[in-house]
Amino acid sequence: ATCGAPPLPRPCMTAVSPASSGSEALPSAGDGEWAPDSWRRFPALQQPEYPDAAALAEVEDRLARNPPLVFPGETQRLKASLAAAGRGEAFVLQGGDCAETFEDFSSASVEATFRLLIAQVIAMSYLSGLPIVKIGRIAGQFAKPRSALTEMTADGLEIPSFRGDIIHSSDPDEAARVPDPERLVRAYAQSAASLNMLRALAKSTATMTEWTDLISTLGGPAQRDLVERIEDALQFVSACGVAVEGNAAFREPEFYTSHEALLLPFEQALTRRVATPATRGGSGGGSGGAPSEAWWNTSAHIVWVGERTRQLDHAHVEFLRGISNPIGVKVGPTTEPEYLLQILERLNPANEEGRIMVIVRMGAEKVWRKLPPLLRAVTAAGKHVVWSCDPMHENTIKTASGVKTRPVDLVLNEMNAFFSVHAAEGTVPGGIHLEMTGLQVTECLGGEASPVSEQSLADNYKSACDPRLNGSQALEMAIAAGKRLRE
Ligand code: PEP
Ligand code: MN
Repeated sequence: ATCGAPPLPRPCMTAVSPASSGSEALPSAGDGEWAPDSWRRFPALQQPEYPDAAALAEVEDRLARNPPLVFPGETQRLKASLAAAGRGEAFVLQGGDCAETFEDFSSASVEATFRLLIAQVIAMSYLSGLPIVKIGRIAGQFAKPRSALTEMTADGLEIPSFRGDIIHSSDPDEAARVPDPERLVRAYAQSAASLNMLRALAKSTATMTEWTDLISTLGGPAQRDLVERIEDALQFVSACGVAVEGNAAFREPEFYTSHEALLLPFEQALTRRVATPATRGGSGGGSGGAPSEAWWNTSAHIVWVGERTRQLDHAHVEFLRGISNPIGVKVGPTTEPEYLLQILERLNPANEEGRIMVIVRMGAEKVWRKLPPLLRAVTAAGKHVVWSCDPMHENTIKTASGVKTRPVDLVLNEMNAFFSVHAAEGTVPGGIHLEMTGLQVTECLGGEASPVSEQSLADNYKSACDPRLNGSQALEMAIAAGKRLRE
C-alpha cells in the first residue's frame, strides 16, 4: 500500500460527486461546458468518502471565500519560464516532500527545504549556465493516492490506507482514518503560513557566502572544488563592478509552489475567475487571442495529475483542462504514445508553450526503452512540452526488513538515462522532479557525501509516505544534473 509503488489498476472507485447510477452512459471529459464543478459529472478516483456530505459542502463554501494562496500574475510568469525550459533556455528544479504533514510543520522544515533548493539551484545554474526555475512540492502537497484501499497496522489490524493529513489522521486506528472535512481548512491555513514564510525567505538577506557554505556542508570534501569555482566566479562579477551582495537578481529568487491536484473539492474551492494578467516582457507564450478573464487555480502555481488519476474520461482531467495554470502530467512506463498525444490534446488544445510539463517516472531500466517512443510522437506532432524527470517513483524497493527505500544509485541512473535518451533523440530535457527534504533524514540508501546504509535507515526515517532524498543526496542529484546540462 505505498504511494510510490507502481500503480495497480485497483482504484478506489469512490466518487465525491453523487454516485453515478451505472446504467447511464458516461459523458467523455472534454465534451460539454467546463465549469469549476463540471468534474463532478465524471468518475473521480482516489477520493475519500466523507461521512457527512453537508459538512464537506459547508467547508467548501468557506474555503471558496478565503483569499487565494497564489496569484495569477505569478502563475503567468511561471508559464513563461516553463516555455523557456521547453526550448532549452532554462531548466526546472521541482522538489519537496512526498507528503507534507501537520505534525512536522515548522519554520525549520520550510526553511530547510527552501535553503536546500536555493543551494541546488546555485550549483546547477553555475554548472549549466542556465537559469533554473524553482518549484517546491510545498504549501499544499497533502493528499496522497494509494495503490491499496487498506493497510495493516503493527498489531495486525486492517485499516483504511493513509491518504494524507488533508483527509484524515495517520494514526494507525480505524476511527482516526475517517475523513474529516475540517482538515481541508487546516491544510489551507498551513499552506498560507508556509507561503508567507517562503515569500519572506525569498526576500531574505542571505548572502552568497551562506549559500556556498551550505553547498560545502551538504556536499562535503568532494564539492570543495565546485565551491571554489563558484566563489571565483562571484569575485569576478564583483570585480567587473556588479554588486553581488544586496543585488536583487541574486537575493530575490522567484519561487513557485506545486502539488498533485488530487483532492478535487479543495482544488475547486480555490479556483477563481479573474482577469488574466498581462505578461511582463512580451515573450510570454500566451496565445494572441487570450480572453481577458480566465479560471485560475489559486491553490498553487502549477498542479499535476498523478499516474493513477489521469484517465481521459475521468474527473481529474476534466477539472484540469479548464484552469489556466501550467499542468504537470505524470507518465509511467506503461504510457503509450497515442495516449500521451490524446491527453496533450485534451489539456492543451491550443498547444500553448509552457502549459504542459510531462513528468516521466519510468524506472532506471525502463526509461531507456519506454521514453524514446513518447519523445518521437510528441516531436512529430509538433506539441510543446516541458520534459521533466521524476527518478523517484519507479525506483522504490523494500529492504529485507520491510523498509520502503530508494537507492540513490538507481535514482541517479534514471536521471542520467533521461539525459542520454534526450541527447540521442535530439529533444530537450527540461527539468527534474525530486522527493527531498532539507532535514538530514535517512530514508534513501547511499549517497556520496555521507552514505546511508541499510542499518542506518532507522536512525532518522521520518517520511509520512515515500522516502525522500536528504540534503546531501539531493544536492548530489542537482550537481549531476547541472553537469549533464553542460555536455
Ligand atoms: C507522487 O508524486 O508522490 C506520486 C504519488 O506520484 P505518481 O503519481 O507519479 O505515482
Ligand atoms: Mn511520492
